[in-house]
Amino acid sequence: MLLCSCLDCQRATGSGHSSVALVPTSALTVTGTPKSVSRKADSGAAFTRHFCGECGMPLYGQSSRAPDLRMLAVGFFAGQTNWFAPRQLIFARSQQAWDLVGDHIARHQRYRESPP
Ligand SMILES: [Zn+2]
Repeated sequence: MLLCSCLDCQRATGSGHSSVALVPTSALTVTGTPKSVSRKADSGAAFTRHFCGECGMPLYGQSSRAPDLRMLAVGFFAGQTNWFAPRQLIFARSQQAWDLVGDHIARHQRYRESPP
């Protein structure tokens, strides 16, 4: 569980960061046909955001760097997010001064520097 303050997440969310839960691809079942948009991330990887083609709701993202993971947009579960407990913020280098995040959350200038 993490927060991402990269500029792409800021643009995609219209806010200071995205709130993300990483899940194994195998744990996710999608019905219907989401729409998607891919673009090149800072890392050079292809990052694809999937969203509902009917209402535009963000659903999940995926990176070519981590094909076995999906990044769930936590806001999708609005009203039922008691389980969400982010412990890190990535791309702190582009975090906005007005985007207040608790000091207990570790900051990484880009990606997390060390494995979990
Ligand atoms: Zn991001």
